[in-house]
Amino acid sequence: MQPQSYYRCWVEVDLAAIRRNVAALRHRIGPARKLLAVVKADAYGHGLTQVAGALMQTDIHGFAVATLAEALTVRQLGGAGWPILLFGAALPFELDKLVEQSIIPTIGSVAAARELDQVAAAHNRRVAVHVEIDTGMGRMGLWHEDAPAQLHEIQTLPHLRVTGLYTHFPSADENLDVTRQELATFTRLAEPPLLRHAANSAALLNLPESHLDAVRPGLLLYGILPALCGDNAAAASHDFTPALTFKSRVAFVKDVSAGRSISYGQTFVAPRPMRIATIACGYADGFSRHLSNSAEVLVGGARCPVVGRVTMDQVMVDVSRVADVRSGMEVVLLGRQDPEEITATEMAGWAGTIAWEVLCGITKSARVPRLYRGTAAA
Ligand SMILES: *Cc1c(COP(=O)(O)O)cnc(C)c1O
Repeated sequence: MQPQSYYRCWVEVDLAAIRRNVAALRHRIGPARKLLAVVKADAYGHGLTQVAGALMQTDIHGFAVATLAEALTVRQLGGAGWPILLFGAALPFELDKLVEQSIIPTIGSVAAARELDQVAAAHNRRVAVHVEIDTGMGRMGLWHEDAPAQLHEIQTLPHLRVTGLYTHFPSADENLDVTRQELATFTRLAEPPLLRHAANSAALLNLPESHLDAVRPGLLLYGILPALCGDNAAAASHDFTPALTFKSRVAFVKDVSAGRSISYGQTFVAPRPMRIATIACGYADGFSRHLSNSAEVLVGGARCPVVGRVTMDQVMVDVSRVADVRSGMEVVLLGRQDPEEITATEMAGWAGTIAWEVLCGITKSARVPRLYRGTAAA
């Protein structure tokens, strides 16, 4: 019996697909550029330990994370050798640990640089840092107009060594004209030998001139395409494979007559006699309540609409078109069940959110076990 036979609701992650996605990224950026694998948020819900382990078997240069805890997990897993960039501002009480563990912090102000310089001095260390330039994101970084003078000041601090400079695009998946301007602003400021990087997944696909010295894909590592791919869409969907499948099971099947209502608030009333399956998965498992009356799930390879509100532990779907639906049958909520496939981007559209949040939401739940395939490199 397969272990997943025991589960009501689970995630399968194909690590071989992630390694293939790295190869597809490498093909696009060429042999010379560095690849920083973005593994924040538990590797976009895929599991940081397992994903980082798989990525260490590829030709990536290093990792990028959002929190110190994530950085330490990667450090522990891979030993001292791997460059680990921490996005976002480190908190004051995190600086000692960062320095001790040789995590590369992002510096976004002269004040933060001074503070780190002092901590580095106390450790008798010279700390490699990347400086972020704000070209329009408005989250952190040196505002680009002030950047030349401030960068100069940071570079004079004796215990810091600025090794990289980067910017982050706010709308590379929505507005390429604005993104091109931000890139131009950034490249005017950033000169070799600093490692210059800007491209998230959307820029990586849509704007090859943004590849610079290194790229920082998250989404594409996991095989998810950004919302805007333009001319790249067909080739990209061929090159990248989603690594995560979210599954559950049929728990109950019933026939209802026209006029019967389904679920809380009675927002769905059967327009005709229907066969309704109750699936063993709800918003507590990461199947968002925003999917009420809007999502589809795959049963027997067919798309079946969610009817009524998603509840905490169960969701009802219309399986009238599927023959022979029984309790225990596997249901795909996200991923492929031939010949159909539901992508994170499609599910995000139903829920009024973005693919990133869909992925993080599923495995936030302690109730959803993750199973791994492709653990060993071929
Ligand atoms: C999350 C993040 C990325 C990766 O973005 P994707 O769109 O998932 O490729 C890159 N850079 C920064 C600064 C980020 O915060």
